[in-house]
Amino acid sequence: MDLAIDAPTPAAPDCADDGTWLACIACDETFAPFEAVRYTCDECDGLLEVRYDDPPTFDEFGSGASSDGPDRGVWRYREGLPFDLGVTLPEGDTPLHRVPRIEEAVGVDALRIKHEGMNPTGSFKDRGMTVGVRVAKELGVGALACASTGNTSAALAAYGGRGGMQTLVLLPEGKVAAGKIAQASLHGARILEVDGNFDACLDIVQELAARGEAYLLNSLNPFRLEGQKTIGFEILEEFYADYGTFPDRIVLPVGNAGNTSALYKGFRELVQSGALDPDEVPKLTGVQAEGAAPMVEAVEEGNDEIRRWEEVETRATAIRIGNPVNAPKALPGIRNTGGTAVAVSDPEITAAQRHLASEGVGVEPASAASLAGLKKLRREGVVDDDERVVCLTTGHLLKDPDAAYEAGGDPEPVPNDADAVVDHLHD
Ligand SMILES: *Cc1c(COP(=O)(O)O)cnc(C)c1O
Ligand SMILES: [Zn+2]
Repeated sequence: MDLAIDAPTPAAPDCADDGTWLACIACDETFAPFEAVRYTCDECDGLLEVRYDDPPTFDEFGSGASSDGPDRGVWRYREGLPFDLGVTLPEGDTPLHRVPRIEEAVGVDALRIKHEGMNPTGSFKDRGMTVGVRVAKELGVGALACASTGNTSAALAAYGGRGGMQTLVLLPEGKVAAGKIAQASLHGARILEVDGNFDACLDIVQELAARGEAYLLNSLNPFRLEGQKTIGFEILEEFYADYGTFPDRIVLPVGNAGNTSALYKGFRELVQSGALDPDEVPKLTGVQAEGAAPMVEAVEEGNDEIRRWEEVETRATAIRIGNPVNAPKALPGIRNTGGTAVAVSDPEITAAQRHLASEGVGVEPASAASLAGLKKLRREGVVDDDERVVCLTTGHLLKDPDAAYEAGGDPEPVPNDADAVVDHLHD
């Protein structure tokens, strides 16, 4: 399968349904999209990608003027999605914040923050779930499952509930932020805490899915990435409206590398339709925590495959992942766009989280990795001072209240007396 940016638009195979089909990125085998439950290639177990005979253009996206329904958010991009409308809350239409003081401190020509924490359940996972749960309905399945570092479980529980389906989530015991478990729990998911890390949870839930216990909605599921690629469409449209050009670079946190793969796929489709020149595609730049950086290792060593890290640790629990399943899609995305990958320390992540918060943008630790990575790449001279950059922040501050509390200042106890409070303030 040709994952090059300027690969030609593929011709629809006989198995296509209304111009949509699944293709294996390793061996080119094609499959009907909605006939059977399938997560990987029957022939070689390679990753699948959703394909269209008619990739979208910006004109087809419409103006986004309407305040709800199919004309806003993820479903405004229906010309580039397998359905016209999904199980929606609705999701997408997140802000592209200006942060002039951080822009100045980092020293780039332009810096904007695409805050995906402003989605209905507080992370970009909602964009994937609105499509994924719609596909589950098409397939006629009744139960949904995922392994999760937290946010996927919150989104699955909410969207599954909205779709009237049962939901099952597998979480690494003791390694999921409080806000995320609270969401999964209240939205009605059955929660299994596994004595192991995220990668172990994913191994188990893949086995459950293979045995027909539930439909798998991790980012291994190619339909989820279709929803997530709309992050890239929104960034391009919003950035262009403000600057008259597309951003030079998009910096994003990397866990399973679903977003890296999804953004690259969306940009390839715009190139295929002629809406975007290959050299206009932003450089995809992935950031991992030093304690969980197999993608960075593969990029630095020039490997086509990642080495699974058995031991992973970082306070950015959402990216505490040692075996990024989408690496075969994401590595070409980083390379073919001229991007790179970089690892940052936990203290650097905390400093970036505080920096964003100081300008009003509240994000969870994993999200701050993008800004931390950009700062490091500026210090190293990899990113130039004339670049226009978008950092993706993936989840909301309230997802991980403990981390926020640790990173922020402490409340000060004062007596119940105005004079004493004034004295305290002037101490
Ligand atoms: C899921 C998640 C990530 C990782 O994204 P991938 O697409 O798996 O690389 C990063 N940050 C947050 C907050 C997440 O929830
Ligand atoms: Zn294959």
